[in-house]
Amino acid sequence: MSAMPQLNLFYDRLSSCLLEDSLRPEKLMVEKELALETDRAFLLERKAQWMEVACPACCEKEQQPYGEKHGFTYVFCPACATAYMCLRPDEALLDIFHKQSLNYAHWGKHIFSATEAVRRERIHQQRAVYLADICRVLGIRGGDFLEVGAAYGSFCQEVAILKIFDTITVLEPRRIWPKSAAVRALP
Ligand SMILES: [Zn+2]
Repeated sequence: MSAMPQLNLFYDRLSSCLLEDSLRPEKLMVEKELALETDRAFLLERKAQWMEVACPACCEKEQQPYGEKHGFTYVFCPACATAYMCLRPDEALLDIFHKQSLNYAHWGKHIFSATEAVRRERIHQQRAVYLADICRVLGIRGGDFLEVGAAYGSFCQEVAILKIFDTITVLEPRRIWPKSAAVRALP
């Protein structure tokens, strides 16, 4: 039997207390769909700038077919079981994409700002507790915690409250997010 905390139990607990409309208000999600379609078209029209990549988790180059969604192809890493997109846009195109993305802008301007409090309580607090459970089982205490793509910073703020790690570093390359109270409160 695995010593890891039961992932299914975590998600059961999470789903039982989620209120879909409080996290993703229906009216805002309809507007988001148009932005998402525009973003997809932006990338699909630039396939000449897509490239072959190794597994982003373990650098394994061997890959197996995994599936397709909305014109994007996903592969499976036999070494670490990560599913990832390949081919995918190169770094230069991703940089341009993130800066002009209508979908990210919509989430930042309308959805996250309207739902930050409930997201923090019903998602990020519970994820942080789950992370603390994993660290306790694995004997991890102290060290550095790095969150890549932290958006509003709510999750790392909840992790900071639990005092598991010595330092917390937040990396959020998209400047479209309004700075949240959580990010401002980080040391
Ligand atoms: Zn891998």
